[in-house]
Amino acid sequence: MSVDSSILHARLKEFFGYDSFKGDQERIINHLISGKDAFVLMPTGGGKSLCYQLPALVMEGTAIVISPLIALMKNQVDAIRGFVSHEKDGIAHFLNSSLGRGQIAEVRRDLLSGVTKLLYVAPESLTKEENIALLREIRISFYAIDEAHCISEWGHDFRPEYRKIRSIIEGIQNAPIIALTATATLKVQSDILKNLRIQDATVFKSSFNRPNLYYEIRDKVEPEKDIIKFIRQNPGKSGIIYCLSRKKVEEMAQTLSINGIKALPYHAGLDAKTRTENQDKFLMEEIDVIVATIAFGMGIDKPDVRFVIHYDIPKSLEGYYQETGRAGRDGREGICITYYSYKDIQKLEKFMQGKPIAEQEIGRQLLAETVAYAESSQCRRKLLLNYFSEDYPQENCGCCDNCLHPKARFDGREEMALAIELIESLPEHFKITHIANILAGETNALIKSYRHDKLELFGAGRDHSVKFWSAVLHQGLILHLLDKEIETYGLISVTPEGRNFLEHPTELMLVEDRAFTSDAYVDEEDDDIPAHVMKGGGGGDPVLLAMLKDLRKDISRELKLQPWIIFSDPSLEDMSILYPVTFEELKNCQGVGEGKAKKYGKDFIELIQMYVDEYDIVRPDDFVVKTIAHKSVNKVFIIQSIDRRMDLEDIAAAKGMDMDTLLTEIEAIVSSGTKLNLDYYIRENLDDDVVDEIYAYFHDEALSDSVADAIRDLGSDYDEKEIRLVRIKFLCEVAN
Ligand code: ADP
Ligand code: MG
Repeated sequence: MSVDSSILHARLKEFFGYDSFKGDQERIINHLISGKDAFVLMPTGGGKSLCYQLPALVMEGTAIVISPLIALMKNQVDAIRGFVSHEKDGIAHFLNSSLGRGQIAEVRRDLLSGVTKLLYVAPESLTKEENIALLREIRISFYAIDEAHCISEWGHDFRPEYRKIRSIIEGIQNAPIIALTATATLKVQSDILKNLRIQDATVFKSSFNRPNLYYEIRDKVEPEKDIIKFIRQNPGKSGIIYCLSRKKVEEMAQTLSINGIKALPYHAGLDAKTRTENQDKFLMEEIDVIVATIAFGMGIDKPDVRFVIHYDIPKSLEGYYQETGRAGRDGREGICITYYSYKDIQKLEKFMQGKPIAEQEIGRQLLAETVAYAESSQCRRKLLLNYFSEDYPQENCGCCDNCLHPKARFDGREEMALAIELIESLPEHFKITHIANILAGETNALIKSYRHDKLELFGAGRDHSVKFWSAVLHQGLILHLLDKEIETYGLISVTPEGRNFLEHPTELMLVEDRAFTSDAYVDEEDDDIPAHVMKGGGGGDPVLLAMLKDLRKDISRELKLQPWIIFSDPSLEDMSILYPVTFEELKNCQGVGEGKAKKYGKDFIELIQMYVDEYDIVRPDDFVVKTIAHKSVNKVFIIQSIDRRMDLEDIAAAKGMDMDTLLTEIEAIVSSGTKLNLDYYIRENLDDDVVDEIYAYFHDEALSDSVADAIRDLGSDYDEKEIRLVRIKFLCEVAN
């Protein structure tokens, strides 16, 4: 089977309200529709769900979606139902242990009658005989295995039941398989392909770069205070704080609460009911912050999480990448801050001691990578992507702490050459710390057992510390002069490029690691997150946007659906730019398809109509161009000109307006919540006494801010322009 591109695009718009596919989505969908297996590696927020949801809706039969978290299934099903303009909700169902008998009967009925296009199942439910019998009776379009990294033990989230999926599928019926994950290490990839026996599947690997995420590592000094300060600076935004222990989660949630921040805990020690309640409150935006162990958030579909804070350093970079990935899935602001102290690393190492040796080995290696990342002064984006075998070509990403506060670099060609020489001279491969120890001339039991303290190069770089040499070696990896074997826990070898460099060393700019001194913290000159990272909304009408968000919250409570399922933030932002007042216009907003417009649109367009009438908004009549805030070109020009202290006469002349029209525009700007400072103009053109008296009138006497009333009350003594100017000043300073 194959489907025409124009039809796929039409369905994309109709069901999901999107104009174009993201990344590889279309290729993946076509591949699946043509009956072939696919393996999709896409970062969190990349849009994996659509890769199986859309084909499920257009193909014959029912797609089986295997997903690990029961708590999230309802969510996903709600989301699909929200998208699709369908009389019957039977289009999507889930099967898991939370369903009652009646509900199961309903699922059965819909499945057998062919209404259901998507069935979400927990792997546990797939092992039940009655479910398997049911699935044998229906036509299955394909199997989607979401969060497929659960198959692998390498890293995190391992689910033993996931390993049985292949044999269960074989007992049901054959159909194409699509496996999806956001974990990109080679080891995990090969585990998944092998276990599902889809080695011939086409691999679709997207870039793992998440350009909107800002990464920062902070010294762990007074982290509570720092976190509270950060949250206060970001009121109303949703965020997740990860802590490693349940105890810390509880403490942190309490600390935040007593500081007036709406926060709740989430960890595996809470009973299931409380856990679900707390998660729902976060999703429904009744609280702003959830404090959690890593148990929270896998596959969680809240697109507008604005910050992810790691109170404790994660145990692996896989975990770090996944958890930070939960910020800014909608492509907007996503701030990721991690608190680092070497003491925490030592604690983690201690915890590992009780575990089987092989597991300890894996654990230590993963931890060593995390430490290297945290302490590095290199671009965080480059480091992370390199970890996932991807090159990041830019020198400065402009969106991580190290790129915003770059450290001086030095020509490290001699140092790199020395390191390469040593590695080449050894008959076996060793880990980074071992090599760094030899270079710095530090002995330990391992060095002695290999008699490496007798090497000619032992201590050849004793002018520098072990830490310095580790940093050099890590940079060698990023520059592809060195390579690390993943299967053998990170033993280091020299690449052909590295050998070439040793023969002809060229200038090589390196940077030393950062010093973390958790107890003697030196405040950096400027550790504020810059404005281009901390950006709020999308430039629409802020008053309308706030009203739309309130409306969305009310409806979400009433329907018991998460706010974003009704309309996403980008959709509301578009509404606050485009002021749609008909269903047709509403569909021009990002993410609003036929289904959503019909289901939820009515209240929104009514509210917008009211708002437009009330404030005499001139609506943009060209709905073809989206995303640009063309609220009113004049308004933007006026605001900018006043910021630049241009004379009002000149502004009016530039736009071919008379003073009266200009004042009307300014009044509209001010009444929609934007503050303007006209003092420079008023001082030049009005008498101080006149200003004071009109001001006092508005302050003490006026019953409303009506211009007409003011002119009636004051008109005999002052002229209209004076009254209107002072009224604007008053509104900006006091009333708004
Ligand atoms: P993943 O499972 O890969 O983490 P999701 O499937 O949850 O990501 O999608 C992330 C976000 O991207 C969601 O908010 C989704 O609505 C949005 N999205 C997906 N596909 C598109 C598209 N083609 N155009 C615009 N937004 C999209
Ligand atoms: Mg997903």
